[in-house]
Amino acid sequence: MSVFNFSAGPAVMPKPVIEQIQRDLPSLDNSGMSILEISHRSALFQNIIDEAVADLRDLLNIPANYHICFAQGGGTGQFAAVPLNLANNRRHIALLDSGTWAAKAGKEATRLGYQVTTLATTKDGKYRELPRLKQAIPADSFDYLHVTTNNTIEGTAYHTVPESEIPIVADMSSNFLGENYDITNFGLVFAGAQKNLGPAGVTVVIVREDLIQTAEAVPSIFDYQLAIDKGSMLNTPPTFAIYAAGLVLKWIKAEGGVTEMARRNQAKSDKLYDYLDESKLFNAPAFKPDRSYTNVVFSTNNDELDAVLVKEATAAGLMNLKGHRSVGGLRASLYNAMPMAGVDALIDFLYQFEQTHQ
Ligand code: PMP
Repeated sequence: MSVFNFSAGPAVMPKPVIEQIQRDLPSLDNSGMSILEISHRSALFQNIIDEAVADLRDLLNIPANYHICFAQGGGTGQFAAVPLNLANNRRHIALLDSGTWAAKAGKEATRLGYQVTTLATTKDGKYRELPRLKQAIPADSFDYLHVTTNNTIEGTAYHTVPESEIPIVADMSSNFLGENYDITNFGLVFAGAQKNLGPAGVTVVIVREDLIQTAEAVPSIFDYQLAIDKGSMLNTPPTFAIYAAGLVLKWIKAEGGVTEMARRNQAKSDKLYDYLDESKLFNAPAFKPDRSYTNVVFSTNNDELDAVLVKEATAAGLMNLKGHRSVGGLRASLYNAMPMAGVDALIDFLYQFEQTHQ
């Protein structure tokens, strides 16, 4: 059955990558062994991880003074790892509270004993627009500013990076490689793979080397310096997830790189937002200039009707349109691997639904 999968993550992956995995699975590079079976210490796997790092460096123009690591523990793990590694001078973090995930990052740092100051929040307006800095941040005040570039649940994104004198830590989980950012604007970028990069299980961390100031209390598994020194193999890494992410990176390169991905994502989301804005039934609440290219949040403003829509859409092969459980409504995630044909099919379906449920 052919479907379009609008899941927010784990999410749709490029079809050629899935097919490549299928071909490789019984015997990787004629080794007679599967990627699921080989040692992370084998030359076969070393080659895979080296190529993934090189391809990522190339795709994002990552300068030599930034290290690339493959971590475990997801974005949630990084909510702890980042302060443990980067906030030991002042033990004080600044936060732009742009959505649920930003708030969770703040909570985790607080839990670990760091002081967190929210410089701006749009929580009272249900995060429909992005919080913006109203004044410059004093250079010696905080260790870093935590920014969520794309708010997966609320459907907003910083299309330009906030101006900041202090290093910015970017949680790029849901628009990593889907929107073009200059890495040198950030002190650290992290992203769970399970949206734009591959299967769940691996998290990319890109960190400027001068910012790492590990304290003794950091668990080894979260210690960036150790991860760098050991080439992301302090312990057994998620070998399959890294292999699959490596294939996705090659697919992005072959398709024209991140600029092309961003162009496609913008075109896809523009088309859907245009339809939703014209529609009498649907409403896309995010403030227009702040709207995400990768997560389109909308609803009929009627919970029962939204539920009917999800059911009918599923029957029509349009999967996973239910909004996040914390906000309800509907959400279509349009990551790199979602073709325009998926958006066209969704708009056709929504149009028909609107005709029959006015
Ligand atoms: N940050 C953002 C922006 C996310 O969307 C998510 C997951 N949806 C997370 C962090 C948490 O990631 P994980 O589930 O990998 O811990």
